[in-house]
Amino acid sequence: MTRRILLLGGVTEALAIARTLGPEHVYSLAGIGRVPQDLQCQVRVGGYGGAEGLANYLREAGITLLIDATHPYAAQISRNAAAAAQAVGIPCWALRRPAWQAQPGDDWREVADWAELVEALKPFKRPLFTLGREPLQHLEEIPPGQFWTLRALEACQGNEQCEVIAARGPFHIDDERRLFERRQIDVLVSKNSGSVATEPKLDVAHELGLPVLILKRPALPLTDQTFTELNALLECLS
Ligand code: NAP
Repeated sequence: MTRRILLLGGVTEALAIARTLGPEHVYSLAGIGRVPQDLQCQVRVGGYGGAEGLANYLREAGITLLIDATHPYAAQISRNAAAAAQAVGIPCWALRRPAWQAQPGDDWREVADWAELVEALKPFKRPLFTLGREPLQHLEEIPPGQFWTLRALEACQGNEQCEVIAARGPFHIDDERRLFERRQIDVLVSKNSGSVATEPKLDVAHELGLPVLILKRPALPLTDQTFTELNALLECLS
């Protein structure tokens, strides 16, 4: 049987996989980021309507291998992928980035959810949020005396207690140092994405002896094959 891959994208490495795929394969994006125009494979943008919708698509499109290369915090699509592949009877592979590990001298504090984060933030005045857009829903709840810096992919409206900075990685350590200094950051708030492109903020927090509040990674489903390295996955595909 001819192999036909559906690649669920969401991280930089997914695009690297997509660049190796021919026109019979499909690269699938949620539609919140940039859509590449220079690929040989087909590009599909938008959701499927849950695990059932994804399973229907897999059947209709004759997909024989599903690859989950979504972000480690995009747990819903990963759950849908594992369930849909199982329902259709095709293998599901996943590329899962290893989490960043604290180094000696780091002060990392893991929080499970937004409520725990708010509690952990109480002693601080000037957090830098690098969690995506979620903090935007809480701008009216910023305690008196706290001033947030929120970095997101797209420009968004802040308020008098929150400056929103639109920026996309990769980030350079010198720019990160300048940002921490300019905004007088006293705590960093981050997911543990494991991405090299966004790691320099952790180095700056380390240099300055600042705590890092890390949102716990969600549990992800088991898959038929899990790769922690892009090259290992590419080798298996070749
Ligand atoms: P999510 O909660 O796991 O997924 C929400 C819904 O978005 C899914 O149920 C699915 O809709 C659709 N979707 C997600 N990835 C898709 C893909 N590759 N192709 C087609 N549909 C997709 O994900 P999220 O956290 O909102 O993230 C959305 C996308 O941004 C993901 O692809 C993720 O990899 C990427 N991303 C997420 C983060 C993060 O921190 N969460 C960071 C960077 C990039 P249906 O149920 O309708 O199929």
